[in-house]
Amino acid sequence: MSYAISGECCSDASCVAVCPMNCIHPSPGEPRFGAGASLFIDPRTCIDCGACADICPVDAAKPVDQSAPEDVERNAAYYADREPLDGTDLDAWQAPAYQTWGGGPRRVLVVGAGPAGMYATRELLLRTTAEVTLVDRLAEVGGLARFGVAPDHPRTRQIISTFERIAEHPRVRWRPGTDAAGLASGYDAVIHAVGAYQSRRLGIPGEEAACAAEDFVAWYNDRPGAVLPVELTGPRAVVVGNGNVALDLARVLLSDETRLAQMELRDDVRRTLAASGIREVVLLGRRGPEEAAYTASALDELSAFPGAQLRFNARPTRWSEAGLELDTGETIAAGNLFTAIGFEGKPVAGLPFDAERGVVPNVRGAVVDRPGQYVAGWIKRGARGGIGINKACAQETVLTMLATS
Ligand SMILES: Cc1cc2nc3c(=O)[nH]c(=O)nc-3n(C[C@H](O)[C@H](O)[C@H](O)COP(=O)(O)OP(=O)(O)OC[C@H]3O[C@@H](n4cnc5c(N)ncnc54)[C@H](O)[C@@H]3O)c2cc1C
Repeated sequence: MSYAISGECCSDASCVAVCPMNCIHPSPGEPRFGAGASLFIDPRTCIDCGACADICPVDAAKPVDQSAPEDVERNAAYYADREPLDGTDLDAWQAPAYQTWGGGPRRVLVVGAGPAGMYATRELLLRTTAEVTLVDRLAEVGGLARFGVAPDHPRTRQIISTFERIAEHPRVRWRPGTDAAGLASGYDAVIHAVGAYQSRRLGIPGEEAACAAEDFVAWYNDRPGAVLPVELTGPRAVVVGNGNVALDLARVLLSDETRLAQMELRDDVRRTLAASGIREVVLLGRRGPEEAAYTASALDELSAFPGAQLRFNARPTRWSEAGLELDTGETIAAGNLFTAIGFEGKPVAGLPFDAERGVVPNVRGAVVDRPGQYVAGWIKRGARGGIGINKACAQETVLTMLATS
């Protein structure tokens, strides 16, 4: 399935900035931008991530199964005589507005091959003649696009193949399985795109027997070295959190054997999930529904799971074998507690750190008081926003680099 844009499109192009696949056109800078009333999604390259729908101010982007047939046709027809573009088609991405960084080749180190690091690399290739050294402590590119995105969203994971092709560019020296420590000398600039993926804690007694989203996701997505830290015990689980990751957990926990069989999972993970006996998941929001951080598309998807219950305005006070005690005096009987209350970054060696926000302090990507050091992605702006948002974020960082070098 892909997305399509309806005639209500306002052409403000916010969707273009967040689309991880460059599959929405005409975009600002392209000849036909502004000539027609609407933008169009290329169904051949759309990965179904929903970023366009989440940001669209007029609700014009919708999955094709919720779109009018004529809108689906209009979107497909726009691309009928055009070759599909992808994120590595660097010539096609070269808009006239792009400036180049003078002064000949320079050496730039990009730390982290998640979405932010990959988009920063792409921007460097487009705008400069720099040689880019790209490192990640993991053996593969993708970061959370590979080890975070839920296994029932395989199309979203297709972005990884675009990232892989960027890493193969002749001006990129890709060094998998490399930690950044000790690498930062000999480069004209360093972009730290190390993410902010450390689970926040509830801080309640008994929490050590709960399972943090970071650990559960790492296990079901087969991140190297990850193990399931708790035994899954049905029939009811509680997930504390009010964002898309909490909903990911609920869908995975509530999937039956047929649904699990369609997911890209290791066999033992699939068997463990199928045998969990979890039939009900209470999604607990500590604040009210108006402050929930789910996107509309994710909430819509959850409606297909009758075992999922949303519950708001209750704060957990203690977790024990009896269940989750709340500040309302009630106890929710449950076999497992999962926490998905957000993530924060860790300090980066040699850089200042804002412990309260869990980010490296920066001005439009330039690290405060550290010339030549830049940040992009979650470590720059905090752990929020989908894959596509990192594109505009990385672009801002590279533009700041160009302006300050
Ligand atoms: C569970 C989960 C599910 C998600 N699902 C979706 C989804 O379905 N759709 C969507 O649009 N968005 C999703 N997101 C959000 C999306 O994944 C983030 O927006 C994006 O990954 C952030 O990119 P990043 O590059 O800043 O960080 P990351 O993706 O975390 O990448 C950081 C990279 O840096 C590397 N690294 C860290 N420290 C070092 C070091 N010292 N040396 C070398 N390498 C290092 C890490 O190994 C990692 O590969 C999800 C997020 C989570 C947590």
